[in-house]
Amino acid sequence: MNFPEKIKIKRCLLIIDMQYDFISGSLKVSGGEELVMKIAEYLKENSDNFDLIVFTKDDHPREHVSFASNHKSKVPFDEYTYVSKNDSSHVFKSCLWPDHCVVGTPGNEIHNDLTSLILNEHIGKTKTIVVGKGKNLNREYYSCFNDVLEEDFTELQEILETELISEVFICGLAYDYCVINSAKSSVQLGFTTFVAENLTRKIDSSWECNEPGVKVVTQF
Ligand SMILES: [Zn+2]
Repeated sequence: MNFPEKIKIKRCLLIIDMQYDFISGSLKVSGGEELVMKIAEYLKENSDNFDLIVFTKDDHPREHVSFASNHKSKVPFDEYTYVSKNDSSHVFKSCLWPDHCVVGTPGNEIHNDLTSLILNEHIGKTKTIVVGKGKNLNREYYSCFNDVLEEDFTELQEILETELISEVFICGLAYDYCVINSAKSSVQLGFTTFVAENLTRKIDSSWECNEPGVKVVTQF
């Protein structure tokens, strides 16, 4: 009789939006430079603990809906409500941003201290991939799985399922926007989800994580 092999838990590390515009550019998050160093150190020691490492990036066209500059009489950080085209009662309230992470600009690039660790699409023994989001003019993305209205999706879910990933660990920028929303989606999709709090930084220093289902690890 053949017994099934004991199933090994497969882990993915998601490194969210470590791009120059969020670190030192137009939408700089406080502590971003220090965070690059910490994530790089972490990867050098721990990359082999993961079965897949995914770098995500904001990949916006210049006319992107989330830029205040693309709206008459709006300035960065003004409130803005995204409304579903299919159902006008389905909305997401957020704010507009300075132009950031425009494809083809230096601010769109992931920090070199992290990409320089990648050799032949691997860090150590672990395969790395890059997933872009926010490519569509009229959709805002915080989560790296789906847009804010949860109507448009990246290829990430399929990638994680193909790789048989069951645990997702998340770090990067910014904790209160793209990190937490990626974590929320990951929980909804059924992955056991951890946020590495010491490997994230917030835009709003008063914000606190209060998301059922997300396991917050303070020292990763
Ligand atoms: Zn963006």
